[in-house]
Amino acid sequence: MPLFTSIYSDLLELLLPRYCSACSIVLQTSERHICLYCLYDLPLTRFEFYKNNPLYRLFWGRVMLQQATALLYFKRCGKARKIIHQLKYKGQSDLAYQMGFMLGLTIKQSHIFEVPDFIVPVPGSASKIRSRGYNQCTYIANGVADAANSHVREDLLKTGKSKSTQTRKGRYARYLNVKDGFISKAEENQEFSILIVDDVVTTGATLESCARTLQERGFSRISIAALAWTS
Ligand SMILES: [Zn+2]
Repeated sequence: MPLFTSIYSDLLELLLPRYCSACSIVLQTSERHICLYCLYDLPLTRFEFYKNNPLYRLFWGRVMLQQATALLYFKRCGKARKIIHQLKYKGQSDLAYQMGFMLGLTIKQSHIFEVPDFIVPVPGSASKIRSRGYNQCTYIANGVADAANSHVREDLLKTGKSKSTQTRKGRYARYLNVKDGFISKAEENQEFSILIVDDVVTTGATLESCARTLQERGFSRISIAALAWTS
């Protein structure tokens, strides 16, 4: 880095410090969103290395999937929870992209995970996109696609009926709430493989509904990937 640029960057860091999204420590110039310590300390699931992982088994008897993976374990008060909170509610769309890129790298490096033809983000409702300014799943999907050399297709899946918030609903109520929540008007070659991308999997109801909608459209090769799983 040229001397002037380096001094300018250091000055900027001093005047406008950036903070780690996982532990809130001040970031060094070379760090982006997450400090090096937290990067090495992330609670990785390593689900990409075995097909019958706990997340894949969550969907047994519910919807047929090719593969399922999540990057992180989501625990109360854990780093994953803080990161998801920042990218979902604090406007950190760049962080969503960075985490999506990490998820995409795990998929690309996996020997069992098929790199999909298309990446489809879980659609956000119009009201949430209006209030947050973006759909965090779109940014995660863009990161996954860039890392795995695939393509994002937001046109394959859209929200249908408006959905009430799911945060405080139980598993069955969530399923009923999202059952008719998505529509697909895809006129695509159904041989293409699709990876649906979400931020956090809790009951799996949203991803189940998305996968069903695409399957009803004729797509049979569907996988899912999320940044975190609440085991
Ligand atoms: Zn940190």
